[in-house]
Amino acid sequence: MRFIRDIYASAKANGRPVVSFELFTPKTPEGERTLAQKTLPTLAALEPAYCSVTYGAGGSTRQKTIDLVQSIQVNFGVPGMAHLTCIGATRDQIHALLLEARQRGICNLLALRGDPPAGTAGFTPEPGGFRFAYELVELARNVGGFSVGVAGFPEGHIECREGKHVDWQRLKEKIDRGADFVITQLFFDNSFFYEFRDHLIRHLHVNVPIVPGIITILNASQIRKFTALSGASIPQTLIDKLHELGDNDEAVAEFGVEFATQQCADLLRNGVPGIHFYTLNKARSVSRILANLGIAHSTSAAHTRNAVPCSTCEAAITSTSQNRTPTDREQHVPHRHQ
Ligand SMILES: Cc1cc2nc3c(=O)[nH]c(=O)nc-3n(C[C@H](O)[C@H](O)[C@H](O)COP(=O)(O)OP(=O)(O)OC[C@H]3O[C@@H](n4cnc5c(N)ncnc54)[C@H](O)[C@@H]3O)c2cc1C
Repeated sequence: MRFIRDIYASAKANGRPVVSFELFTPKTPEGERTLAQKTLPTLAALEPAYCSVTYGAGGSTRQKTIDLVQSIQVNFGVPGMAHLTCIGATRDQIHALLLEARQRGICNLLALRGDPPAGTAGFTPEPGGFRFAYELVELARNVGGFSVGVAGFPEGHIECREGKHVDWQRLKEKIDRGADFVITQLFFDNSFFYEFRDHLIRHLHVNVPIVPGIITILNASQIRKFTALSGASIPQTLIDKLHELGDNDEAVAEFGVEFATQQCADLLRNGVPGIHFYTLNKARSVSRILANLGIAHSTSAAHTRNAVPCSTCEAAITSTSQNRTPTDREQHVPHRHQ
């Protein structure tokens, strides 16, 4: 399977954005069946460049993550990426897992510190384990045979009391230790992403792909939960709209497709190397967003340019983007498609 660093490099050379999907391992046999028989075939038909699989909080899905990544690669021919965290494992155990992953044909990793299981107080490193993601990046590099991505936080990591610039400097450290690309935490106001990207490129001289992670709003309580966990903020216009739509999940999901379409269209116009969708194991919204954008596969740029924003979406998303001048690095993919 291809290294993700090579996928971004060839997409850049071909002037196409990389579309990728994040999945999680289902908790029930029924969820596993739905994923294998419905969701994955639908997502694979959209021809993503790769799919990533999360690693349950507290390291709870270690083996299942590897199994699902391997199955995506073998059954759908789509390159997979395993998320791997520092939680609940010693250095030796992580080392063994890396060797197993490599032996099973997995060559792409997202190296993370990880979130502790719900209900536990903060992160505590395992005795003999790692404290920070950069240590995992370093180990994966030393083991060899992997393209390694890391997490980035456009609004700063929620635990970083010293502020976002210090957090971004620490992200730079992960890149210096060998990370090939960055995937961001979800955000709803693109100006956070642009500020983050500009700082990394202009001040910290980062030259790896910085990929926005985009979530589609399925219902209001889900978004409140995710933003509370991650510390990502919700623009007031979005809060007002969700309030107006109330418990009408269908209307919220419909609005979510429209909002994410406009958010992605703005990001693509501003030269992102790709979009990583947090699919939440649902194919419908993502399929519609890609169709709206015209980037499902072999489509034209016209769709992105022609996407007409509704006033709520536009106010929330493009507050600062209109007058931006893309840097040299950004210019490689404007208006181009997978
Ligand atoms: C795209 C994406 C996918 C994710 N997937 C998963 C998943 O599958 N499973 C899961 O459990 N979690 C996942 N997470 C969440 C992530 O694990 C948490 O946000 C976690 O709290 C931080 O992880 P990190 O890799 O950024 O950690 P780190 O980079 O280690 O940073 C953690 C904190 O430590 C600080 N820090 C870093 N280096 C230093 C240093 N040298 N000295 C002092 N402080 C330092 C940082 O500023 C930050 O506040 C994901 C996040 C993203 C953005």
